[in-house]
Amino acid sequence: MRILVVGGAGYIGSHMVKKLTRSGHEVVVLDNLTTGLRSLALYGKLIVGDLGDAALLERMFRECEFDGVMHFAASSLVGESVADPSKYYRNNVASTITLLDAMVRNGVKRFIFSSTAATFGEPVYTPIDEAHPQAPINPYGASKLMVERILKDYADAYGLNSVSLRYFNACGADPEGELGECHDPETHLIPLVLQAASGRRKSITVFGRDYPTEDGTCIRDYIHIEDLCSAHALALEALVSGEKRGAVAYNLGNGSGYSVQSVIDAALQVVSKTGHSLVVEEGLRRPGDPAVLVADSGRARAELGWRPKYADLQTIIEHAWQWEQQLAGQHSL
Ligand code: UDP
Repeated sequence: MRILVVGGAGYIGSHMVKKLTRSGHEVVVLDNLTTGLRSLALYGKLIVGDLGDAALLERMFRECEFDGVMHFAASSLVGESVADPSKYYRNNVASTITLLDAMVRNGVKRFIFSSTAATFGEPVYTPIDEAHPQAPINPYGASKLMVERILKDYADAYGLNSVSLRYFNACGADPEGELGECHDPETHLIPLVLQAASGRRKSITVFGRDYPTEDGTCIRDYIHIEDLCSAHALALEALVSGEKRGAVAYNLGNGSGYSVQSVIDAALQVVSKTGHSLVVEEGLRRPGDPAVLVADSGRARAELGWRPKYADLQTIIEHAWQWEQQLAGQHSL
């Protein structure tokens, strides 16, 4: 099939493009390279441009006759979304409508959307299944929820079938070492811990030890990027076979939460094998962080046949460490 991957030069998108290409699909990547990197666009054909550019999209859809679209491009920093909501509603909602309208005009009816646990807001219960109320507490989560809603209406009105995948904590890296996480600024726990271990950062700060959890630190559901990508591949298959129609959504996590402290402990075990260590500092709670965020992914398992392969935290960190060592090597040149 010929698949358009929007945001295919980003962290998650680049892994997906590799997977699709390896499975024999033809992939076109559209990325404006604001957060995506040319160095991650190793597979597929890269077109540098903006998904809000209706004329460019029209040309691409006419020329390429896509069988489906995967949409990873988004602004995704919670704090920034509070300070600058306009950017989030424009990039994540308005531009997505431009993309969806190009699909509708050109008769492309399969869409896979990167959604987020942030659409749920403060958890009412845990683990979080698809029936959990969606009440986002920041513009980032709200922008993603708006698109989920738009997708329902586009399914009813235009027959555009979609799967929204709500990621919990995406992490890890390509087991073959070609791709990985490379955000600037980096805000995520695992890459920050590993940067502290490689020496690219002086320490890691724990944001609060006074949460109502066993060790007092926040619990999150860390899911390996490869497992996220396999869920996308299964979602695409379900849309192609016609098994899934309308607008459906799945929560994606391993279902087992790990505390910030246990991530640091696991990282220490991994990095000590290469003679590294790291400095841990204590900090205050980060505003807006719920104590526990864990997914119930039973629905994705039951309906898509999804089976995460890399649920083990140690393995996730080993892959991320392999990638971080490469980055640290480049920086020291
Ligand atoms: N965290 C931390 N120190 C950091 C970055 C993150 O203690 O430098 C904590 C954060 O408070 C949260 C967990 O690590 O409890 C995961 O945060 P991350 O930003 O990776 O993902 P989020 O859960 O916010 O999507």
